[in-house]
Amino acid sequence: MPSFVIPDKCDGCKALDKTACQHICPNDLMVLDKETMKAWNVEPELCWECYNCVKICPTDAVEVRGYADFVPMGATVTPMRSTDTILWTVKFRNGTIKRFKFPIRTTAEGSAVPDGGWETKGDDLKSPVLFTEPASLGLDDVPTL
Ligand code: SF4
Ligand code: SF4
Repeated sequence: MPSFVIPDKCDGCKALDKTACQHICPNDLMVLDKETMKAWNVEPELCWECYNCVKICPTDAVEVRGYADFVPMGATVTPMRSTDTILWTVKFRNGTIKRFKFPIRTTAEGSAVPDGGWETKGDDLKSPVLFTEPASLGLDDVPTL
């Protein structure tokens, strides 16, 4: 089920120009009512349930009901990130709460190399090959027809 905002918890990101959920949504689904300073998901049927808005909301105002294939129907699933772990809180319809914590990184925070050490060139965006190719394929050139 798509994300939805709990109005009582939402403070409109304290009147910032663009709220955190608006900034992070890859599908531009979050809108803010400037009168009430409450956000909402304007096109729920287009929501990918990617949890980005859930993770970024500073007041834990966004919830998503998890798919029935990984939690029982009607349960809410709330991720909380730290620097090296993610804690998933599952709240069942009967009020039972379970938490699952997993490590999320093997490199120290701030030490990731965005291009992975692969060489980039100025005209890469115009190229038909994927980033890192042909070197990552062990080739000098990608074969063409
Ligand atoms: Fe409200 Fe959270 Fe969105 Fe900020 S990020 S506008 S607090 S739902
Ligand atoms: Fe956008 Fe993802 Fe939140 Fe859906 S779950 S509203 S796609 S950020």
